[in-house]
Amino acid sequence: MPELSVRQAGIPLAATMAAAARARALRAQGRNIISLTLGEPEFATPLHAVAAAHAAAQRGETKYPAVGGTPALKAAIQAKFLRDSGLEFAPDEILVGNGARQIIFDALIATLDDGDEVIVPAPYWNAYPLIARMAGARPVFVDCDEADDFLPAPAAIRAAITPRTKWVVLNFPNNPTGAVCPAAHLQAIAVVLREAPQVWVMSDDMYEHLIHDGSRNATLAAVAPDLRHRVLTISGVSKTYAMTGWRVGFAGGPRVLIDAMAKVQGQSTGGVSPIAQAAAEAALLGKQDNVPQMRAAYAARSARAAASLGRIPGLTCHKPEGAFYLYPGLRGLLGRTTPSGKMIDTDLAFCDALLEDAGVALVHGAAFGKSPYARISTAASDDAIDEACARIATFCAGLHG
Ligand code: PLP
Repeated sequence: MPELSVRQAGIPLAATMAAAARARALRAQGRNIISLTLGEPEFATPLHAVAAAHAAAQRGETKYPAVGGTPALKAAIQAKFLRDSGLEFAPDEILVGNGARQIIFDALIATLDDGDEVIVPAPYWNAYPLIARMAGARPVFVDCDEADDFLPAPAAIRAAITPRTKWVVLNFPNNPTGAVCPAAHLQAIAVVLREAPQVWVMSDDMYEHLIHDGSRNATLAAVAPDLRHRVLTISGVSKTYAMTGWRVGFAGGPRVLIDAMAKVQGQSTGGVSPIAQAAAEAALLGKQDNVPQMRAAYAARSARAAASLGRIPGLTCHKPEGAFYLYPGLRGLLGRTTPSGKMIDTDLAFCDALLEDAGVALVHGAAFGKSPYARISTAASDDAIDEACARIATFCAGLHG
C-alpha cells in the first residue's frame, strides 16, 4: 500500500463536519434530529447576486480568471473596505480566494516555515491551528476567559510571543463565542503588537456585518493604521450575504504578502470562478437591505436561545454580541449521568449523549480549544432553535448524580 504523508496525518477531520455528518447519518436512519452544527446561513443568496452570475455566464465570462481576482470584483472590494472600515487598498493589495478559508491557507503557507509559531486565541475557529500545522508551524493558544467576554488579554498575547512567532490571529465577531472586540481593546492589543515587529496579524472579519446591535465592526488596520504594513484584513460574502456555496472570500493587506499568497493560490486552485466573482461583486455593491434583515433575525434568535438556555440549571450562557453562535458552558453538568447510564464527563460526552438521547446535534467545545462548552449555531429556523432548546432543557433535567 503506498503511504500517505506525515503532514496529513496530523490533521483530524474537522469536528464541525464530523458532527454534521453524524447528524445526517442518524437522520438517514429515520431519527428526528435537529442539527445546530454548521455555520451555514439558511437564508437565500440575494436574487440580484444570482442574476449577476447568470448574466456573467451568458456574457461568456467562463474562461480562466486572473489568479488574484477580476478587476471588477477588486474594485467592489476596494469600495467595500472603504465603506465598511474606512480602509483604503490599491487593487494589488487585494486577493480574492475560493472562500476566506483559502485566503487563510494562502497566507499561512506563504509565510510559515517549520517550527514557526502562530498565536491563536482560544476558543477559535479550528481552521487556524489546522492550517498552521499543515504549514509545519506550531499553534500557540492564548486562553480567553468567559469572565473577560472571551477576549484575549493583551498581556497574555505578550507572554505568548517568542522570536518564532510569525502570526497573531484575531477573529471578531468570533466563531464560536460571538464575542465582539471593542476598539479600545484592539488598541491595547496593538500596543503589544508594536513591540513585536516580526509578527504578521490576521484580522478575520468574516462576521463583521453580523453584530447584533448593528454597530460598526472595529478592525485592527483601522484602529492602528501604523500596523497596516503587517495586517491582513479578511472578509467574504459567505456569511453576510448567505453565499457559502459560491466560494468567494478576500483580503486586503500589504503587497508583498498579497503577492506571495497569490503565488500559493496560483499553484492550488488558481483564480475563483468568474461567475461567482460576478455574484460577489453584485452582493457587495448592490442593495444591502438583506443584511440588516438577516442580522436582526440572528440577533433575535440568539437572544431568545440565550435566555432559554440560561434558565437551565447547570448550564451558563454568555450572551453573544455577534456572529450566529452561542457557546454555553457545561461545567455545572459534568459528573452527572443520563437515565441510560452515560456519564457526562466531558463536553464531547455531553454532545454525544444529547445527540443520541435527545436528537440535538451540537459541536463540543474541545473542537474549538475550550472546554467544557458546546457551540450552538443559530443559523437555523426559529422553530428548530426553540425545539432544540426545549430538548436540551429536558435532557439536562433528566441528568442525575
Ligand atoms: N472565518 C471564520 C471565522 C469562519 O467561521 C469561516 C467559516 O465558517 C470562514 C472564515 C470561512 O468562510 P468561507 O471560506 O466560506 O469564506
